[in-house]
Amino acid sequence: MSNPSEILATLRNSFSSGVTKSTPFRLNQLKALLRLYEENCDAIQAALAEDLHKPKNEALLAEIDYLKNDARTAIYNLASWVEPEKPEKTLVNVMDQVLIHSEPYGVVLIIGAWNYPFQLILAPLSGAIAAGNCAIVKPSELSPASSKLITELLPKYLDNDCYRVVEGGIPETNALLALRFDYIFFTGSTHIGRIVNEAAAKFLTPTTLELGGKSPVYVDSSVDIDVAVNRIMWGKCINAGQSCIAPDYLLCSKQVQEKFIESAKKVMVQWYGDKIKQSPDYARIINSNHFKRIVKLLDGTKIVYGGDCDAEERYIQPTIVVDVKSTDPIMQEEIFGPILPIINVDNAVDAINFINQREKPLALYVFSNKNTDVDLFIKNTSSGGVCVNDTLMHFSCESLPFGGVGNSGLGAYHGKYTFDTFSHKKGTLIKNTGKLGEKLQNARYPPYTDSKINF
Ligand code: NAD
Repeated sequence: MSNPSEILATLRNSFSSGVTKSTPFRLNQLKALLRLYEENCDAIQAALAEDLHKPKNEALLAEIDYLKNDARTAIYNLASWVEPEKPEKTLVNVMDQVLIHSEPYGVVLIIGAWNYPFQLILAPLSGAIAAGNCAIVKPSELSPASSKLITELLPKYLDNDCYRVVEGGIPETNALLALRFDYIFFTGSTHIGRIVNEAAAKFLTPTTLELGGKSPVYVDSSVDIDVAVNRIMWGKCINAGQSCIAPDYLLCSKQVQEKFIESAKKVMVQWYGDKIKQSPDYARIINSNHFKRIVKLLDGTKIVYGGDCDAEERYIQPTIVVDVKSTDPIMQEEIFGPILPIINVDNAVDAINFINQREKPLALYVFSNKNTDVDLFIKNTSSGGVCVNDTLMHFSCESLPFGGVGNSGLGAYHGKYTFDTFSHKKGTLIKNTGKLGEKLQNARYPPYTDSKINF
């Protein structure tokens, strides 16, 4: 049975039965998800190698171990998360119960991207389960080995009447989007995010949109340049630059630029040897369309490091380009590949002005030991998140909400925030009916005498 409306009907029946609202049921499903990660590490690494030539360590770090931690957090905290919150009371409600119940939305749709194909589907799914929802997940068709493995594995571990996988590309996604879901969680590009949001608006379905954009990185002369280079080049090179929060472009002075390039050249050899293409630790571009798109961005640029490309292998060497102008094609779209353009600015204020003339990024990176400059960035720019003196690492800090703002997204998740994302927060007031309590209410009943008004 692969018809999306039939699947949705099955899931709706399951949700109506109340089975997913039971905390022990949620806990069992989360434990099954954890077992899926523990028992299929090799298969997941193999699928990621097939789709992206993803190095084993990157598969562990950014997908399998990440997902294990995510599931463990939900398992350990579920009992407290499901308890109604007790917000502060005012004098008026001193004798009442004031509660916030976390209520599951119902049947949710989770649409993923191909760059971290397991994590981007399964981390939201664990939050949807924890919050008591049923879910359909739709992995990206551009990472077919990963999509196939998710389709094989999920029914073996999770309750098939509550959680389903639908594979496919644009037509299959559109068929899903034509249906009425209770929540849609989308990860992908800003352009498709708009399409998803329009489809959701038809039913007033709430959405989380985890989108992309150009995440800037600013480096000043106060930092240890070798440390900055390690952390920036790692953020650019992991998954061959195909990370939503990869540092997209670098803003720095000419002097910092020279030191940065010299240090980066050395680091690349330390990490990947003389022949990067032969390194087992460097990924490939997902498909030939993206390969051609990224290579085209190099047209007319001044390459100071890298530039080696191999269409057959979809290999692009980590590449640094300089003398970049804000009007160059490489500055018009998210690069989503291992190219680092450098734009020269004189100081923090120039960098902030540059950033503020563009769409709000998903991440902002600042490398500086000057607290006043760091503060200037945090207070005078808007971005999904900020990470100071590192790249990407705020993503793995699960006590921080992760999400975009403006063109880089809507809503956030990770840790408890994922549970909250998939829960309707139902404000609940339970009034006291005792005599004394009722006496306190007297002022609101007619007749509205002056003494009551001045009470
Ligand atoms: P994409 O928007 O092309 O595709 C995402 C999903 O939408 C896929 O499942 C795809 O099948 C579906 N889709 C594609 N075209 C569609 C259409 N016309 N109608 C309906 N559905 C459609 O994105 P992608 O190429 O898979 O991923 C790259 C983008 O995702 C980048 O912009 C990146 O920054 C962003 N991203 C964001 C995050 C985040 O957490 N914010 C994480 C990873 C990737």
